[in-house]
Amino acid sequence: MSSQQPYSFFHSVEKSFDKAAQFTKWEKGLLEQIKACNSIYSMRFPVKMDDGRIEVIEAYRVQHSQHKTPCKGGIRFSNEVNQDEVMALAALMTYKCAIVNVPFGGGKGGIRINPRSFSAYELEKITRRYTSELVKKNFIGPGIDVPAPDYGTGEREMAWIVDTYQSLKPGEIDAAGCVTGKPVSQGGVRGRKEATGLGVFFGIREVCSMPEVMQRLGLTIGVEGKRVIVQGLGNVGYHSAKFFREHGSKIIAIAEYEGAIYNEAGLNEEEVFQHRKATGSILNFPGATNLAKSTDALETECDILIPAALENVINGENAPRVKAKIIGEAANGPLTPEADEVFASKGILVVPDMYLNAGGVTVSYFEWLKNLSHVRYGRMEKRFTENLNTHILDQIEGLTGKSVSDSERKFIKHGPEEVDLVHSGLEETMITATREIMEIWKANPAIPDMRTAAYVCAINKVGTSYTELGIFP
Ligand code: GLU
Repeated sequence: MSSQQPYSFFHSVEKSFDKAAQFTKWEKGLLEQIKACNSIYSMRFPVKMDDGRIEVIEAYRVQHSQHKTPCKGGIRFSNEVNQDEVMALAALMTYKCAIVNVPFGGGKGGIRINPRSFSAYELEKITRRYTSELVKKNFIGPGIDVPAPDYGTGEREMAWIVDTYQSLKPGEIDAAGCVTGKPVSQGGVRGRKEATGLGVFFGIREVCSMPEVMQRLGLTIGVEGKRVIVQGLGNVGYHSAKFFREHGSKIIAIAEYEGAIYNEAGLNEEEVFQHRKATGSILNFPGATNLAKSTDALETECDILIPAALENVINGENAPRVKAKIIGEAANGPLTPEADEVFASKGILVVPDMYLNAGGVTVSYFEWLKNLSHVRYGRMEKRFTENLNTHILDQIEGLTGKSVSDSERKFIKHGPEEVDLVHSGLEETMITATREIMEIWKANPAIPDMRTAAYVCAINKVGTSYTELGIFP
C-alpha cells in the first residue's frame, strides 16, 4: 500500500503479522491461511424508525478463522464501522484467543450506526433484526460463532440477541451460549463487566513486576505510585482506572471526546464518571485542570498511558510527542505501525492490545462454559470448601491452643463465589500470557517489540493448530 492510500486497519494488522511471521517456522502458504479472513457477511436490512421512516442499516459479521470453533468476538455499534475495520478486529480476535489459550477462532461484528441517535426501541429492533439475519445465514450459535459486547454495546444488547436467538431456535438446550456478556439473569457470568479493565490491570501489573523490564524503562518495580493516564471513560477505561487506583497508582489525567482533565494528585474515576453524567462533560471537574484538547492527554508526561477508546489514536504524527514510558493498549488497535516504530526506537514499552485487552474474551469463555454446563461457578464447591476450612482451622486452634481473629477466620473459611473464581481464572490467564510473550521476546533478541513477540506467540499457536488439523499434509 502506498502512503497515498487511505489508512486500512486490516492492512496495519497484516503489516504487524508479516513483521512477526519471519520469526516463525511456518511456510508461506500456511502463513497466508492464518492471515486471511475466512468468511465475510456484509448485510443491509431495513428498520422502521419511531417516526415511520424506513432506514437501511449497514452491518457486518466477519469470521476470521475457524481453526478452532466457535468463532468469538464482539459486536460494535459505531458510525465508523466498515468492512475493513471489522476484518481487522476479527483477525485480532484470532490472535488474542490463541495467546490467552481460549479455544476459539476470531470473529467480529459491526453495525454502522451512532447508537446515541436512536431510541432504545429502535436499537432493540436493529439488534433483533441483525440477530435474525445472522441466524438465517448460520453465522451465530454456541458452536458456530458467539458474539459479545464491544464499543457501543453492552449487556442490554446481548440480552436482546439471546432472546431473539432462543425464540428462533426453540428447544436448543445450549442456546444461552450463543452470545456472551449477557446480564447475569439471562445466563451471564459475574465478573464479565469489569473483565477487560481488570485484565489490563493484571497484564500491566505483571509487566511492572519484571525487574529487568522495569530497569530498562528506568521505573521502580510494581504499580504502586505509578502515574497513569487513561483515554476513554467507557467500560474498559473506567475499570482499568478503577483497578489501577485501587492498587495504589495515581490516575493523573482522563480524556474523553469533549476534552481531558488533569490533576497531579490523582483523579477518582467514579467521581469523574458521575460528574460527566450530571453535567454532560468531563470538563470543569472540581480540583482538576482542563486540557485544551482531548488529545493533549496522550502527550502528557506519565509512567503508564492507557488508550482505552478507539483505534488509530496514536500514529506517526503524534507518537513522537508521547512521553509515557509504558503504553498499555486497552482498546483494539489504538497505535498504528508507524507509532510502533517510533516507540521501539525510543525504548518505550508498548504492551499490545491483542493480549492486554483479552480479559473480556477470557471471561466470555468462562461464561460460555457456564452456559454449556448449566451450573453457576462455585455452586458445587463453595459450602464444601467452607466446611473443610472450618474443620482444619478448628483442628489447628485445638492443637495449638491459640485462636485467630474473627476477620482472619472469615478470610480463611471463605469458599469461592462465582466472581472470585472468574477473577482468579482471569488473573492466571493474564499472568501466564504475559510470561509466555516475554519468554519469546527474551529468547529472540532480534524481535523488535512486545507486539511482534505477541504475534509470534499467536502465529505459533494457530500454526500448530492448523497443522494438527491435518489440512496441510
Ligand atoms: N469485544 C471484546 C474484545 O474485543 C470481547 C470479545 C468477546 O468477549 O468475545 O475482545
